Amino acid sequence: AKTMGISTMQFFDPEMQAVETARDVLDVDLRRGLQENEFVLYYQPQVDSANKLTGVEALLRWPHPKRGLLSPGEFIAFAEEKGLIGLIGQWVLEAACIQLLRWSADPETAELTIAINVSALEFSHPEFVPRMLKVIDRTGINPKRLVLEFTERVMLGLTEDTVSKMRALKARGLYFSLDDFGIGYSSLGYLQSLPLDELKIDRTFVKDILTNPNDAVIACSIMALGASLGLAVVAEGVETQEQRDYLASQGCKAYQGYLFGRPVPIAELRLGRNVRNP
Ligand code: C2E
Ligand code: CA
Ligand code: CA
Ligand code: CA
Repeated sequence: AKTMGISTMQFFDPEMQAVETARDVLDVDLRRGLQENEFVLYYQPQVDSANKLTGVEALLRWPHPKRGLLSPGEFIAFAEEKGLIGLIGQWVLEAACIQLLRWSADPETAELTIAINVSALEFSHPEFVPRMLKVIDRTGINPKRLVLEFTERVMLGLTEDTVSKMRALKARGLYFSLDDFGIGYSSLGYLQSLPLDELKIDRTFVKDILTNPNDAVIACSIMALGASLGLAVVAEGVETQEQRDYLASQGCKAYQGYLFGRPVPIAELRLGRNVRNP
């Protein structure tokens, strides 16, 4: 509200004022939250065709001292706008690496993977790759156990820079997953020029897969595309046995969704061989 003209009433609009104040509060809060180490990773199981746990997706949560548990939808976009996404991403990476390190000590968990979400803005930072490699080297994790989930938005401004950054990380053995696949920003041309390992079928196509033929066609096309490009395919947002069985009948081999487990704090994660019936 710096450059309000005389003719505008916005400055005196109490609603606008309230929005501005809330944003200022969130800004201060986020910085403090980072400083005070308030963030937590929740982990959601990913399973194979035999319901065996193969890894988890790390999903960020912020147990806010006053507002309760906040989901990324409530602060990630804001953090990006305020230039804080890099710090948050660093925190997530460190936390995930520490968890991988703990798991690596036990043969029952040593093979598990952790997927972290990388926002397009975060990835575009010139220091993204060196910072990432620094944490990997410092913690000494096996990079093959670390999955980076990119959205198609990362591919939107696909440049030589994107490709070379991905190749630099790939050279160290990281695993790349293309998240929310199918909701689409661009052509499929980029799929072959990037060192991808996996596609994740977006939840919106899984939701009505049994009742909406269009969604079923898209989900099946993604599986076919994955097969022909040699990429693994994970179905996300699987909530019912019927959805899971249909996906399986169409060749799906990896799943994530409430059917197998909600995102939970590490202490509540069930690490048994069979996630559903331990
Ligand atoms: P996403 O990467 O697509 O993650 C999946 C979202 O779907 C998660 O929401 C998860 O809780 C939810 N979900 C999983 N299974 C089911 C299901 O069976 N049914 C339904 N209805 N929902 C399911 P969440 O945790 O609120 O995260 C939302 C988004 O925030 C994520 O979408 C991701 O894009 C972003 N995000 C999460 N953690 C991070 C992070 O550490 N860094 C960044 N940059 N973004 C993050
Ligand atoms: Ca994701
Ligand atoms: Ca997703
Ligand atoms: Ca999504």
